[in-house]
Amino acid sequence: MEVTTEKLPGGAASEPVERATALCETTDLGLSRRQCISPEPLDPCTIVIFGASGDLAARKLIPALFNLFLNGGLPDRLRIVGCARTPMEEDAFRDRMRPAAGVPAREDGSRWESFAAMLHYQAVDYTDPSTFDELAGFLRRLEGDARAGGNRIFYLAVPPVLYELVARRIGEAGLAEENADGNGWSRIVVEKPFGHDLPTAMALDRSLHESFREHQVFRIDHYLAKETVQNVLIFRFANAIFEPVWNRRYVSRVRILAAETLGIEHRAGYYEAAGVLRDMFQNHMMQLLALIAMEPPPRFETDWVMDEKTKVFRALRPFPVENPYENLILGQYGRGAIDGAAVPGYREEPGVRSDSLTPTFASMKLHIDNWRWQGVPFLLTSGKRLDRKVTEINIEFREVPHSIFRNILGERVEANRLTLGIYPEEKISLIFQTKNPGAALRLRSVTMDFHYSQSYGGPVLDAYEKVLIDCIRGDRMLFWRQDGVELSWSFLSPILERCEECENRSRMLHLYEAGSMGPADALDLS
Ligand code: NDP
Repeated sequence: MEVTTEKLPGGAASEPVERATALCETTDLGLSRRQCISPEPLDPCTIVIFGASGDLAARKLIPALFNLFLNGGLPDRLRIVGCARTPMEEDAFRDRMRPAAGVPAREDGSRWESFAAMLHYQAVDYTDPSTFDELAGFLRRLEGDARAGGNRIFYLAVPPVLYELVARRIGEAGLAEENADGNGWSRIVVEKPFGHDLPTAMALDRSLHESFREHQVFRIDHYLAKETVQNVLIFRFANAIFEPVWNRRYVSRVRILAAETLGIEHRAGYYEAAGVLRDMFQNHMMQLLALIAMEPPPRFETDWVMDEKTKVFRALRPFPVENPYENLILGQYGRGAIDGAAVPGYREEPGVRSDSLTPTFASMKLHIDNWRWQGVPFLLTSGKRLDRKVTEINIEFREVPHSIFRNILGERVEANRLTLGIYPEEKISLIFQTKNPGAALRLRSVTMDFHYSQSYGGPVLDAYEKVLIDCIRGDRMLFWRQDGVELSWSFLSPILERCEECENRSRMLHLYEAGSMGPADALDLS
């Protein structure tokens, strides 16, 4: 086990930082686990998490960083600095993060102790710029003799209303400048939502660019970091047999489904103002659509891939807002049961208005006006409190042009279907027809399955682990570019305006029972 001793601010020697022996383990690819996580050595850096007292930090960020640590996937010299308004001693912050990372207090947890030595805490007041100057001083002392290279990631895990202010404060404290005054590289990570509509998204971008240049801005869509989502491009463009049928001549319909069993949890404040279209469609659903529909870029490079995605958003046929009912079903969950347990309706959730008309379900049909996809409907469906938690993309192929079995079978031959499963199973399945064994000629649909988990022995990164590693590597491939954000809002804004007109709000909203498949009418949208 490799042991390094590092200095804490004030010169005190910290606990020895033990690096996992997992670094030396090899996978079936002949690579160490660390090489599987990042092919090249990672720059030393400091990750500053604003909103470190909140939900995202505890549920996603710290567990992801701890898992990376256990897999030997973090840079050798990493510091994690939690920042928030809540006054807290450093040890109190560590104790608070320990159960969040899945290490119960009663357990010995020596690996946790090694990780916790990297955790620090600094209270800030967003309305007081001097606290950001103090933060800058704290970081310099923490990084000591530039051992962390002055490289910093500023992660905005705060409510969206604070994004602009926190970014400005970082800039005012000189922390956004790169390669100057003890700074190395500097990156800012912004969580969705990127604005509430097109004007606010553009305003947010202008604010971020007051302090940061575009290459420093990382707009997260953690869906993109899921293995199977990344695999869509490999599947399409590293296999010669699928691309020739990936178009209007062979594909009859594409369905993208992101269903959740969870309700809104404690996030009523956010969700009441957002609803499902802003929460899921503006970002995740649009990204999945782009990956399925885009043309192959000349090379697998960030801007080239983003250019192709952008072209898909540009080709979206404007939604027929004058008659939205045939192309959009909105719903809101009522009471029901999930896994046998009774759950309240949306309007009974804490913090939700009793007459709320916020949609928690949407099914939308849209078209892409280009040569490849002309006439092929794309059905995007997402909802909360549905009967199962599943995310998948279904490519439905056309039926055979003429069935030679019609006179014997007297039945339609079911079309082929390809499923790209993202959750719960990361898989690829192809449904095709075979002959049922026996003397009589009967068809049988069978499924050919590829499961990620069965065929790969290396560490599989959780989406937030991947996102954090990519931020450290400076790889923006899996993040949003602003032109994509704006095109996505340009498509959705007229729909939102139409749906949010007073007389349409209740007219368009279908109530559905929690634990069901959503509003029955959504099934007719095809
Ligand atoms: P929280 O509501 O938990 O807030 C995070 C922290 O921000 C709080 O602990 C609090 O810290 C501070 N804060 C809250 N309200 C205010 C306020 N009005 N003024 C100043 N500070 C405030 O947010 P989450 O952790 O849930 O989410 C953080 C960001 O990540 C949000 O933008 C959210 O949209 C996004 N996100 C969250 C996800 C999740 O699963 N939670 C998933 C995807 C995105 P203190 O009072 O100590 O300063």
